[in-house]
Amino acid sequence: MTCKGRIFSGMQPSGKFHLGNYFGALENWIKLQEEYECIFSIVDLHALTSTYEDPSKLPEHINDMALDWLSAGLDPEKNIIFIQSHVKEHAELHLLLSMITPLSWLERVPTYKDKLQQLGLAGKEINTYGFLGYPELMTADIILYKADTVPVGEDQIPHLELSREIVRRFNNLYRPIFPEPVARLSKAPVLPGIDGRKMSKSYGNEISFSATPDEIRARVRMMVTDPQRVKKTDLGHPEVCTVYAFHKMFNLAEVEEIGNHCRAATLGCVDCKKRLAERIVEFLADVHSRRQALEKNPRRIREILAYGAERARTVAAATMEEVKQAMHLG
Ligand code: SF4
Repeated sequence: MTCKGRIFSGMQPSGKFHLGNYFGALENWIKLQEEYECIFSIVDLHALTSTYEDPSKLPEHINDMALDWLSAGLDPEKNIIFIQSHVKEHAELHLLLSMITPLSWLERVPTYKDKLQQLGLAGKEINTYGFLGYPELMTADIILYKADTVPVGEDQIPHLELSREIVRRFNNLYRPIFPEPVARLSKAPVLPGIDGRKMSKSYGNEISFSATPDEIRARVRMMVTDPQRVKKTDLGHPEVCTVYAFHKMFNLAEVEEIGNHCRAATLGCVDCKKRLAERIVEFLADVHSRRQALEKNPRRIREILAYGAERARTVAAATMEEVKQAMHLG
C-alpha cells in the first residue's frame, strides 16, 4: 500500500457516541487508516469552548470516546490516537497563530454567528474569546503535524479555508513551514434519529453506539414509520419511512425485498422493525464484545492514550522548534 498523505482529525468528547456519529465520521476514519498516516485526537480543549462552565464530565466522556473508537476498529498501532490537552504544543501554536490572524477572518466564519445563536438559545453563554478562536485552535491541531489532508463534511469547508489562509499568512510572514491542508470531502450518509429528524443527542432521538441488544430493540420499536400506513393492509411508502432508511444502512441484502413487501402491504411494520433491530444488534455485536474486553482493562486504555500522546508530542515538538526559530523566539 502506498500512503496517500497525512491526515489529522478530531472529535469533541461530548457524551455518548451514537450511530449517527459512527456513520458521520468514524466509519470513514476506519477506511482512511488503511490509506493514510492518520492522527486522531480526542479534542478536549475544543469541548471546553461550550462546556467550560461545568467540565466535570470530561474525563468520563473522554474515556467513552476512546472506548468507542477502539471498539469500532481504530487501530492504535496504525494511527496516533491521543488526547489533545496531553500535547501542550496545541495550546502553544494556537497562541502564536492568534498573533497573526486578523479578527475579521474569525468573525466572518459562517458557522460562528449561527452557532453562537443556537447555543445561546440553548442557554449557553459562549460569547467568549475561546469560542471565537475555535478555528485557530483547529488550524493549530492540523498544522502541528503538517497534515496535508483533512476529512471534512461540506459545512466545515469554510473552517478549512480559513486554516489555509492562516497557513499562507504564516508561510509568507516567516518561512514556508506548513503545507496548506486540503479537504477530503466525505459523503457520509446522514442517519435519521428514531423520530425521523437528524440523529442528535439534543433531540433525544439517538441510538447509542454502546446500546445493549434490548435497548436497541426498544429504540427501534419507537421509530416513526410511514404516517399514511395506519393499518397493516394499507400500502406503504418506504421512501418516507425512518425504519426503511435504517434498512438501507444495516440490511442491504434485504432492503429491496422489504421495500417491495411494504409497498404491497405484505409486511407489517412490527415485523419490519424486528428484522431491522436484529440487523443492528448483529452489526454492533463485534463492537460490543471488543468494548466489553476493553472496559475490563482501563489500564490498557490509559496506556494506548499515553503512547499516542508520546508519539504526537515527538512530531509536535519538532514542528514547534521550527516555528519558534522562524518567529525568532527563544
Ligand atoms: S413495513 Fe417497514 S418500511 Fe414499510 S412503513 Fe412499515 S416499517 Fe416502514
